[in-house]
Amino acid sequence: MIFLMQGDYVWLDLKTGREFDVPVGAVVKLCDSGQIQVLDDEGREHWIFPQNATNIKPMHPTSIHGVEDMIRLGDLNEAGILRNLLIRYNEHVIYTYTGSILVAVNPYQLLPIYTPDQIRLYTNRKIGEMPPHIFAIADNCYFNMQRNNKDQCCIISGESGAGKTESTKLILQFLAAISGQHSWIEQQVLEATPILEAFGNAKTIRNDNSSRFGKYIDIHFNKRGAIEGAKIEQYLLEKSRVCRQAADERNYHIFYCMLKGMGPEMKARLGLGLARDYCYLTAGNCTECDGRNDLADYSSILSAMKVLMFSETEYVEISKLLAAILHMGNLRFEARTYDNLDACVVVRSPDLVTAASLMEVEPKDVMVCLTTRTLITRGESVTTPLSVEQGLDVRDAFVKVFIIYAFKSSLINPNTEFFEQLCINFANENLQQFFVRHVFKLEQEEYNLEDINWQHIEFTDNQEALDMIANKPMNIISLIDEESKFPKGTDATMLYKLNSQHKLNTNYIPPKNSYETQFGIQHFAGVVHYESRGFLEKNRDSLHTDIIQLVHSSKNKFIKQIFQADVAMGVETRKRSPTLSSQFKRSLEMLMRTLSVCQPFFVRCIKPNEFKKPMLFDRELCIRQLRYSGMMETIRIRRAGYPIRYSFAEFVDRYRVLMPGIKPAHIQDDLKGTCQQIVSARLGKQEDWQIGKTKIFLKDHHDMQLEIERDKA
Ligand code: ATP
Ligand code: MG
Repeated sequence: MIFLMQGDYVWLDLKTGREFDVPVGAVVKLCDSGQIQVLDDEGREHWIFPQNATNIKPMHPTSIHGVEDMIRLGDLNEAGILRNLLIRYNEHVIYTYTGSILVAVNPYQLLPIYTPDQIRLYTNRKIGEMPPHIFAIADNCYFNMQRNNKDQCCIISGESGAGKTESTKLILQFLAAISGQHSWIEQQVLEATPILEAFGNAKTIRNDNSSRFGKYIDIHFNKRGAIEGAKIEQYLLEKSRVCRQAADERNYHIFYCMLKGMGPEMKARLGLGLARDYCYLTAGNCTECDGRNDLADYSSILSAMKVLMFSETEYVEISKLLAAILHMGNLRFEARTYDNLDACVVVRSPDLVTAASLMEVEPKDVMVCLTTRTLITRGESVTTPLSVEQGLDVRDAFVKVFIIYAFKSSLINPNTEFFEQLCINFANENLQQFFVRHVFKLEQEEYNLEDINWQHIEFTDNQEALDMIANKPMNIISLIDEESKFPKGTDATMLYKLNSQHKLNTNYIPPKNSYETQFGIQHFAGVVHYESRGFLEKNRDSLHTDIIQLVHSSKNKFIKQIFQADVAMGVETRKRSPTLSSQFKRSLEMLMRTLSVCQPFFVRCIKPNEFKKPMLFDRELCIRQLRYSGMMETIRIRRAGYPIRYSFAEFVDRYRVLMPGIKPAHIQDDLKGTCQQIVSARLGKQEDWQIGKTKIFLKDHHDMQLEIERDKA
């Protein structure tokens, strides 16, 4: 039995039994003859008999008004974390720390917290000195780079619409501002964004500005801390979007912007009309996006192209390419039968003539290319007619290559693209494993090696799922790959092999019956079902000989350049060209290697609701994201752990200024003793720091305290 008074805070467990339901916070409103009335965080009222209340518990003081760093939460459970984020969010405070990991809840409204004044406030501060902020993360990356002379990386994760892209832009904005030169190069780094987004982002049902590609941005600073250069690497654009969109979704922004913003003369030259005139832009039955202004965006794209020094010719060529894509999308095919074979013809139309002239090829060559297939076997070429479906496939494959090029030269979930989705989820598994390794595994291994006092903390490891997808012999990617290279391989034989190899793995969900063509994978963020039909074709990612020949015949240098690699590879070697998954796997491995030598920062973006609305906090949606990202365990380890560590020599050299008379590390005989001496003098003997075999282990707040004293010294 608990005694409660008006104004007391409690946890109320509604015991709904739902998977993502946790106790809700509530405040006592009335106490009356053995009954109390509470008002929960959602604004609902409940009557409770405290005598037999097993479903209420008093709330820890830290949970009542919330904390900036969740390692300070007294109620260390999911309810505590969730409420902490909720009450801050209700006050428009979207950032919260877990140690030095930043949790960012998407506000879906512009908050006045990104001004130049704010940038100044966060410059050159320690984490924890100021309220949590994305700028604090950026500042610490920058500061750590200079202090430790080591590469830093920042990993931003979260689901579609959670705010990764916005966070990235804020970090870039901060870095450009504090690197302080206001140079052309900083300007270019910032201006690359509108172009990249125009060609790589689209409206989806989950996000009006969804990035349909992964990206890694590499920024180089010189010795003085100024931005010296930048490189943006993109992974796997969702090509299918250029031909098809799900209901209520759009193609890439660039098409709509171009049709709204391009001048009438240029439009006439490219034979362009309105968005609604193009099959490729209307599949989702949605050509406008409420939150966006295509016209204004087009002028930002053009001015960004100027900053990035695109020439007039490049602008024209890119526009021709985009226009050709749209015209190709409007081609109509009609079925024919020749010698009992399904065949097709392209209907002669203005679109055909314009597309051909934009690509500088003959219309009849386009027709032949889209309606027949030439196979070369043992030096003999055999031409067979294509059915309407096959013709459409060839056309789509062709424009998909175009969009990739348009995308590349721009810089420079739903639905059916399951193969691409698998690759993306595979990348996310890798990033999650990077997090797990860094935050849980390496951390605890080091405590053990250094023999400090430590109680092991359990965590959810996604290594097994990752091994099944890409590491173990006969892993999923390698089986798909092998089947793609095998001339007789089909989606069905591939699925059969996946099943027989992995059916006993708990992370694999085989099809329910022999007609089913989907298999499932238990990813760290939940189960995803993949449609296996079309897998091999997508993975082979090869272009038909006929297309290569068509491009070869083009008089346009720009277009020839696009396909240069394919043309050079020729017909014979094409089979050996790397599959999509092996290319992707390789670039991912490279990325993970690069990251592994950096000091990492993590930003976890949380999407508070599915409606893109401000001030709406869906508890179940949030708890799901917190749970699969391992937030509970993260708080636990960050609270118990020692995120800051120095070798004895590093520590002595950095902090000997805090104690007069201490000699530099290289002329010390008892480094360990000296460390102990400094740390107990400055932080106190009872404090929770530890000395290991070769290193000293500190908490984040110790680090901050020492740094502040050092700045003063
Ligand atoms: P995707 O995986 O689909 O690319 P994402 O995680 O990159 O999603 P964003 O595009 O960054 O998501 O965010 C979606 C939208 O949420 C933005 O267009 C913006 O309207 C809003 N948003 C995100 N972060 C913020 C923020 N810090 N302040 C204001 N609005 C934000
Ligand atoms: Mg994005």
